[in-house]
Order: sequence, then structure tokens, then C-alpha cells
Amino acid sequence: MRLIFLGSPGVGKGTQAARISLRKKISHISSGDLLRLTVDAKTETGLKAKEYIEKGLLVPDELVVEIVVGKINSAECEKGFILDGFPRNLSQAKILDNTLNEVEKKIDRVFYFTASEEIIIKRIAGRRICKSCGAQYHEMFSPPVNDNVCDKCGSRLYQRKDDYPETISMRLKVYREQTEKLIDYYKSKGELIEINCNGEEAEIEQNILEGLHSMSKEERKME
Ligand code: AMP
Repeated sequence: MRLIFLGSPGVGKGTQAARISLRKKISHISSGDLLRLTVDAKTETGLKAKEYIEKGLLVPDELVVEIVVGKINSAECEKGFILDGFPRNLSQAKILDNTLNEVEKKIDRVFYFTASEEIIIKRIAGRRICKSCGAQYHEMFSPPVNDNVCDKCGSRLYQRKDDYPETISMRLKVYREQTEKLIDYYKSKGELIEINCNGEEAEIEQNILEGLHSMSKEERKME
């Protein structure tokens, strides 16, 4: 099962990708997380990527593609994967198609997540992350038991610099100008399922599972 989770920053696709990957035992590939690892490790890629990330801009394709394609081709993705945050423009989508074509594989479904701008901004602004284990919290919607301390490992939580209000608007602009084009791209291929993310996490997950179920039924019919 190979899936793409597409949608605006802050829509909640990362949270859902984590839930579905756990449930379906497939890999969760977050291009943002992979890039942040290179930044923390201060690799050559990381040093270049940092500048773009902090400004809310897209990191150049050649830096992201190498990391993501490497992961897709790794043994941990053999059973399938969810791409979260990749592709983010048309050229990345075409590179992804070519990469999968080469090994006679394809994307099974693209879930396109939507929510109101008000909810998106609230979700981004309240997001807090554990520096040690990466667990995600939200100040209002899913706070830790003790203020600013991770429930899972006891480390301090932090706010991503690109989640600060001055960068959020740039990230949303980049999304509208570059990533939204992918909606028509995947719609025309008949792979798109739209998921409304205004509600509760569990309800959204249920809608995704229903989308996956309808997919298997359709595919069973075609056999
Ligand atoms: P995310 O965690 O998905 O919100 O990504 C955080 C930041 O990483 C983005 O604002 C971009 O600067 C960068 N990034 C993540 N994925 C990509 C991608 N597919 N292409 C280019 N830049 C990316």
C-alpha cells in the first residue's frame, strides 16, 4: 500500500499519517522530519536546507528528492509507505512517478486533507514537539500532562521556528502557489480522495480507513 497525504501545513496530515502507518504497519515518510534530521546533524544538505526551512520556503528539489527517494527504495518501505509532505510541487510529483515506474510500482491513493484556514492557523500556532522523541502535542487540543514536558520521555517540548506566526503566512502562500497544483494532477489520474479535517482526530482516521476499504473493494472487483 503506497499512499500520499496531501494538504496544507497544519491541516493534520502528519498526525493522521502517524496513526495510519501504525495501524497498517507501513512506513511513515515525512519529508519535513527527514530534512530536520539533516539540519540537526549539520550535514551539508542540512546546512543548505535550514535557510529555506526557516524562511518558510521549499527546499530545492535536488536536496529533498535524494533523501525521500532513498527512503522509498529502502527495505523498511517494502510493505508500503505514506508520503507526508512529499511531493510538494509538480516536478517532485513527476520524479516520484518515474521512480516508482522504474520498479513497476505505483501510488495507490492520494488523500487530500482540507480544513478551514482558521483551524489550520490554530493548529500550527499551538503545535509543540519533543526534541528527543519527536512526539507531537498541541497547547489546546492535545496538551501534555505537565506543561512543556513530553508524556512519553520526559524531555522538554519546543515550538518549531517555522511555526512562528511570521513564517506561517509564507508557508501557506507557498502551499497555495506550488503545492495546490497537485490536487488537479492527482485528480486527473483518478487517485484522489478528499478528507475533511475540521473534526476530531479519531473521526478523521475513520474516514481515511473507509477510503482505504473502498479502494480494496474496487481493486478486488477489477481482479
Ligand atoms: P513540514 O514538516 O512538512 O511542514 O515541512 C517543513 C519544511 O521543510 C517546509 O516548510 C519546507 O521548507 C521543507 N520541506 C518539507 N518537505 C519538502 C518538500 N517535499 N519539498 C521542499 N521542501 C520541503
